[in-house]
Amino acid sequence: MTGTTPKRMVVIGSGTMGRGIALSALRAGLDVDLVDVEERALQAAATWISGYFARHPRTEPSEEPPRGRLATTRSMDEVLDAAGVVIEAVPETPTLKEQIFGRLKSAPSDVLLASNTSTMSVSALAEACGGSAMVIGMHFFNPAHKMPLVEVVTGDRTSDEARSAAVALARRLGKEPIVVRDVPGFVTSRLGLLLGTEAMRMVEEGVADAASIDRAMTLGYGHPLGPLRLADLVGLDARLNNLRSMFARTGDERYRPPGVLERLVAEGRLGRKSGRGFFDYDAAGTTAAGEAP
Ligand code: NAD
Repeated sequence: MTGTTPKRMVVIGSGTMGRGIALSALRAGLDVDLVDVEERALQAAATWISGYFARHPRTEPSEEPPRGRLATTRSMDEVLDAAGVVIEAVPETPTLKEQIFGRLKSAPSDVLLASNTSTMSVSALAEACGGSAMVIGMHFFNPAHKMPLVEVVTGDRTSDEARSAAVALARRLGKEPIVVRDVPGFVTSRLGLLLGTEAMRMVEEGVADAASIDRAMTLGYGHPLGPLRLADLVGLDARLNNLRSMFARTGDERYRPPGVLERLVAEGRLGRKSGRGFFDYDAAGTTAAGEAP
């Protein structure tokens, strides 16, 4: 894809992030192949994307419904040849991501191979991909079709060409890229996980209830969303995976997953997507007041 803008994006994983990244690409006029191992996840993502286009009036040509520009498949290998860029957004499980990047060795050599990982080493993913210089991090934020930041993470082997292509792609998707070195958690997870984890420990210690802790940061520090509502939005299972990965990589006690997070996930309280997390949500995803779990 280097030098030119890609025409077709392959997004691997159609969950919370993959569907939002796919929507951003469709809005920017790219064609998208959305890949998932779960047919149900693909259906849900396609329905969510067409719902978005149905709800939003056409203000510009790229806001047209995707009509044939979005394809879904369970077979990644079938769509790699036509890809201009691949963005991987499967769960934050190191072995799974390494396995995917192992399979991405068969992509054409000029295709940008980006991971939406929040905590993993981009250099390790490049190793899994046979040392490819096209492997890079493109860390989007939730909801990916709305949040403006993309952290572009360069690994040891990432080429200048790949970095420029990722920066250009982020801009094409209407995002603001920042370029970051491949350290555990980059800038955003390194800071954001600490804040969220500390808020969870305060819930455990009974310092204040969840709603009050969140209000402290929205009203006192001007954060648009409190750290516990943000964790619910991210998905508590996704947050737990991120902490496990950061703790495994750094051995830093500050990233050890708090017991309350482990317990909520074990109980199926995964945050907004399951209707309950640190707060309770109605079908529209809103909550009036939170109770401490
Ligand atoms: P998710 O669980 O919502 O979605 C992951 C999807 O990947 C699921 O639909 C699953 O069926 C699919 N999948 C699993 N194995 C697969 C495979 N082998 N091939 C294809 N698809 C497969 O996860 P998510 O929250 O979207 O997170 C995805 C990535 O994005 C993670 O690396 C996470 O750290 C990162 N991230 C998440 C957020 C967030 O707020 N959730 C924010 C930034 C980055």
